[in-house]
Amino acid sequence: MSEIRTVRALEILDSRGNPTLRAFVELKDGTRVSASVPSGASTGSREAFEKRDRDPERYEGKGVRTVVAEINDYLAPRMAGLPVGNQAAVDQLLIDLDGTPNKERLGANALLALSMAVARAGAASAGLPLYAYLGGESARRLPMPMMNILNGGRHADNSVDFQEFMIVPVGAPSFGEALRYGVETFHALKALLKERGYSTAVGDEGGFAPDLRSNEEAVEVIVQAIEKAGYAPGKEVAIALDPAASSFWEGGSYHLSRSRQGRKSSEELTALYRSWIDSYPIVSLEDGLAEDDWEGFRVQTELIGDRIQIVGDDIYCTDPVLIEKGISQKTTNAALIKLNQIGTVTETIQAIDLCREAGWSFVVSHRSGETEDTFLADFAVAMGGGQIKTGSVCRSERTSKYNRLLEIEAELGARAVFGPPAGSSKRHRRHP
Ligand code: PGA
Ligand code: ZN
Repeated sequence: MSEIRTVRALEILDSRGNPTLRAFVELKDGTRVSASVPSGASTGSREAFEKRDRDPERYEGKGVRTVVAEINDYLAPRMAGLPVGNQAAVDQLLIDLDGTPNKERLGANALLALSMAVARAGAASAGLPLYAYLGGESARRLPMPMMNILNGGRHADNSVDFQEFMIVPVGAPSFGEALRYGVETFHALKALLKERGYSTAVGDEGGFAPDLRSNEEAVEVIVQAIEKAGYAPGKEVAIALDPAASSFWEGGSYHLSRSRQGRKSSEELTALYRSWIDSYPIVSLEDGLAEDDWEGFRVQTELIGDRIQIVGDDIYCTDPVLIEKGISQKTTNAALIKLNQIGTVTETIQAIDLCREAGWSFVVSHRSGETEDTFLADFAVAMGGGQIKTGSVCRSERTSKYNRLLEIEAELGARAVFGPPAGSSKRHRRHP
């Protein structure tokens, strides 16, 4: 396996126009690759540290020039000569060089850019596609996409409290067909919104962000869009929600201020979700409660976890320690997986291994601030969980992931399988 010749970094822009990092790795065998890291907006408070310059003279303090300098001057000489074949060893070296529990010395953004670039270099040097390099020969499962077609909360300026309304083409036979179902529903939704005089401008992840009157109106118009596109709600195209409830948790209650529904307790909010599940074809609920409301999550999972997938995002932050706690307390029955919440490829895989062992499902996810990097698509196939969340079906930083999945599907041909594996899938494959 080839060794690293040089490593360097560059400050680039993410899809929101904020600086982020791109790392370049060159191997002694001549392989040259790069990888870029995303950045969230509704971040969990326990996420690994995203390091920025805090220089108010540049990019409102969001520049990453100091991180670039540390990669070029401090990390590069220490990484030169390392073999790229052992991802865990490279990641451990990065973790040790940082030496802090949440990667605040060097920044999780620095570590992840390098970790991803090293993985990609290993794949290129071995002559393998990234999904096969990370997932082995058996990696052939294309993920069910959860497509975020209507945005609220911190991703939009409107009267919708809940952050993400996603469609899940549960009845589609393949990834390519699922994408088509989703795209057709997206266009039907656009037409419906236009007809009703709403804006069809899009939010950070490419979903529409109309100034609807309520959270209910958002889910109702999506059901109508599914029908308008010619699909059966629930059977062919279902709905997944990510309210990102930490963002409206204030002083011990949930404050639905955008929609003027007032304050709700944890029990009241779960009761609201329960009534939604009775009325709408919802198959998955992520961050329905806030990151500190562990007991609320446990009760929610007990009440509705046999009917839908309950996904923890901010509550776990892809941290194996927190996921383990969630497994032992039956806090949810699934986890969202974001590489930059924890900071290295190896630790992300450890988090996924815990989910697998516990019989939990997991959803590999982008961030609201993305780049054109398609690492996530290969990673989702490599991990084989059969679910991905990578935004709406417009904006190139989102479609680049879908397009890469189409490439992988074509490459695998008849070997490709699709969607959550049997066992983990019973809750969210098809709505009854
Ligand atoms: P974020 O949102 O990337 O802004 O954190 C995505 C999510 O909450 O899942
Ligand atoms: Zn989330």
